[in-house]
Amino acid sequence: MKKMTGAQVRQSFLDFFAGKDHVIVPSAPLVPVGDQTLLLTNAGMNQFKNIFLSREEPRHPRVADAQKCMRVSGHLNDLEEVGRSPYHHTFFEMMGNWSFGDYYKKEVITWAWELVTQVWGMEKGRLWATIFEDDEGDLPTDEEARGHWVSETDIDPKRILPFGREDNFWSMGATGPCGPCSEIHYDRGPEYCDKQDVPGHVCSVNGDCARYLEFWNLVFIQYNRDEEGVLTELPAKHIDTGLGLERVALLAQGVRATYDSDLFTPIMDRVQEMLGHDGQTVRDQNVPYRVIADHGRAVTFLVGDGVIPGNEGRNYVLRMILRRAARFGRKLGFAEPFLGEVAEVVIDAYGGHYEDLRRRREFILNVIRQEEERFQRTLDVGLALLDEIMTNLESEEGAVIQGADAFRLYDTFGFPLDLTRDVASERGFAVDESGFQAALEEQRQRGRESQQFATVDAEDFELYARLLEDLKGSGRLGPDGVEHPYDAYVELETVVVAILRDGQLVSQASEGDEVGIVLAATPFYVESGGQVSDGGLLARYEKGKDAPCWEVEVKTMRAPVPGLLLHEGLVSRGGLRVEEPVWAMVDAARRMDIARNHTATHLLHSELRYILGEHVQQAGSLVAPDRLRFDFTHGAMLTQDEMDAVEQSVNDAILANYPLAAEHASYQDAIAAGAMALFGEKYEDEVRVIKIGVPEEPFSQELCGGTHVHQTGEIGLFRIVSEGSVGAGVRRIEAVTGRAAQQLVQQRLGVLDAASTHLGTQPEEVDRAVLRLLGDLHHRQKEISDLRRELARLEYEKLLRQVQEVDGVNVLAARVHAADVETLREMTDWLRTQLGSVVIVLGAVIGEKPSFVAAITPDLVDRGLKAGSVIKRVARVVGGGGGGRPTLAQAGGRDPRRLDEALALVPKVVRDLMGGSRDS
Ligand SMILES: [Zn+2]
Ligand SMILES: [Zn+2]
Repeated sequence: MKKMTGAQVRQSFLDFFAGKDHVIVPSAPLVPVGDQTLLLTNAGMNQFKNIFLSREEPRHPRVADAQKCMRVSGHLNDLEEVGRSPYHHTFFEMMGNWSFGDYYKKEVITWAWELVTQVWGMEKGRLWATIFEDDEGDLPTDEEARGHWVSETDIDPKRILPFGREDNFWSMGATGPCGPCSEIHYDRGPEYCDKQDVPGHVCSVNGDCARYLEFWNLVFIQYNRDEEGVLTELPAKHIDTGLGLERVALLAQGVRATYDSDLFTPIMDRVQEMLGHDGQTVRDQNVPYRVIADHGRAVTFLVGDGVIPGNEGRNYVLRMILRRAARFGRKLGFAEPFLGEVAEVVIDAYGGHYEDLRRRREFILNVIRQEEERFQRTLDVGLALLDEIMTNLESEEGAVIQGADAFRLYDTFGFPLDLTRDVASERGFAVDESGFQAALEEQRQRGRESQQFATVDAEDFELYARLLEDLKGSGRLGPDGVEHPYDAYVELETVVVAILRDGQLVSQASEGDEVGIVLAATPFYVESGGQVSDGGLLARYEKGKDAPCWEVEVKTMRAPVPGLLLHEGLVSRGGLRVEEPVWAMVDAARRMDIARNHTATHLLHSELRYILGEHVQQAGSLVAPDRLRFDFTHGAMLTQDEMDAVEQSVNDAILANYPLAAEHASYQDAIAAGAMALFGEKYEDEVRVIKIGVPEEPFSQELCGGTHVHQTGEIGLFRIVSEGSVGAGVRRIEAVTGRAAQQLVQQRLGVLDAASTHLGTQPEEVDRAVLRLLGDLHHRQKEISDLRRELARLEYEKLLRQVQEVDGVNVLAARVHAADVETLREMTDWLRTQLGSVVIVLGAVIGEKPSFVAAITPDLVDRGLKAGSVIKRVARVVGGGGGGRPTLAQAGGRDPRRLDEALALVPKVVRDLMGGSRDS
């Protein structure tokens, strides 16, 4: 076979199929677009799923691409294989060619053979093909494929082997498209067998040793499987192939493991260089080296597609893989973060084909470095915790680290089980691994329960899909003359082609009904790319009458299946029927507000990049009539100076009154010209570019399908309302424009005017006047507290004069003013220190109820006086009770009018109690 680099394999595959009239499409992002059922893109066909399900029309009958894929479910055990097995990867590239109802088995088999034998020069004597033969005996053997292998290629017919459902039948799910497949295997020679010493082992295609390597799967999507499991032949049959780039690179370079191909070696070489290891060390440390190479690719591509480390879903997958790589790095000897260097190698090696990696270089490196640094900190904390757990266990015989503890380390500090196990075994501890698995399973169970997939109800979906098909089939949906009718019109005369009420198709609707209406053509925009749907009116007018005969208020728009636009709202007047003519009128003022906000987000995006740096990427947006929200990647809070600068420069761009233009270009050309593409968007190969400024040197250019103003001056005014954080490394700005900005300014100025009137000053003087008032207030407050202190002193002096002597004991019983019992207690404390040896009972009315606090110095407690006994008898007078310690007690009562009477009783109580003590 010809010697080729990985990049050459990729390019020659794409060139070959371009030569067979295929359109080469870009890889879909790793974050699946518009598919809530999938965590990460895991197969080449993901982005074409809707075509196979007949939910979407193919744009081209033949396409080919190199697709970024990730296979990892988020379970720890899945990752254990990485680095240990020679071909297991989390991230990999799947090359594919597709036919959507176009060519079929004959062509794909012919071309596959041509590519591998003629272009790549694989020896025919090493190749094997497989075809489907049902091991359950229900489905016919794929004689068609076998026939083409025999007639269209010069493969030795003995090398065409039949296999059953497990190996050679493909289905999308329990129901839906499915069909037989034909695989191509490569015989690497007996020396590659890794089971030679297993007694009775025989090398075979689809066997269990490393000699035969399957590298290309040709899937023939031939049937549809219904709920009962019955297969019916599809009217339009498809081809879906998947060729593992890593495997072909391995074959082309004659190496044993995919890791030894040039898709991985530059990464491992860089790691070796940083650590200064010799060749032998690299071979000894083969697993950590491979893990870092695999995970380094995965994290670079994930972040490149806008995934940020976190604790849920795909964000968690990224965090877990990144931390696992960081930890293996520590094992190898890295004391400092190193994954940024690894990511640089990946960007350099793959950025030629996956240009987004180059464009987002700064962002990718920032996110990876920040997360690794954060992990280093938690790693230290986690190790300390593990140390503590082991120290506590030290005394026990044969101690085992509890599964729950190991899980806590995993869950909170990102400690994989094998790290805990490693560290524990160094000190002679074992880990309760089944306890760990149980805790993990419990968490996954919770995770599954909380996972909610938003999908269109299957039944509804059928209804809408059928409706769309009917409408298209009968030609009742208007000709697609204008690509973006919402951009060309705000009003349109058209026809009602369908009415839905309560999820049912109906022929008419009357006043008060909530309906969904399909028109032959519509000027209404349906929510997409962050811009909300249009609202407005549908109405029928008859000649000579001013008032419409019926009217529907459109509240929102919805596209339950691509291409079917529902105008949802209320019939507010009259009744309508299918086939009636109608004026569709978008609420133009609202549309204009939306357009101002949308254009302003583009200006904001480009100013943020200019002022904060090129690492700023849009991470989400909302364009509504009353405000705009813009999320972007940036590590720190914006300073006031930065906010002012951003706001000022957006307003400068508005005043410059730049013209806007919407142009159409191929995706590649637009990106090459510097247009910004957004994360998580799936772009067709022809895209719409919104340019602001002179077209030769635009101030901003973005791929965008939304509605915009014609000149930036129409935005009027731009005001930032808030800036905050929405997650690690992502900031959010909310702002208003046009009418809303004017209202905001007007309202703020109104407040200022009112304040200046109240202050009796000019608006320009308000801040100084307020400062003056605050100074004054502060001065007065100080005066008041001085006076309060003076009053309190006078009150205390008065109290000290009220001390009387009862049988040689100082007794003070007095009524005071106190806001709460706490104050009452403080007063007794103070008096007690002043008087030395004393019985104090203070009473006050607090919240309309009598309250008492009694304090007795310890020397008198010895003489039989207890605060609790005193206060109980005193409180009885006001209908209450209480208690406490011998030296301090408190009580409450019901009748405030008898407070003085109760306090007057104190000397007698003291005398009685002391008499009692003398008796006892
Ligand atoms: Zn073998
Ligand atoms: Zn836009």
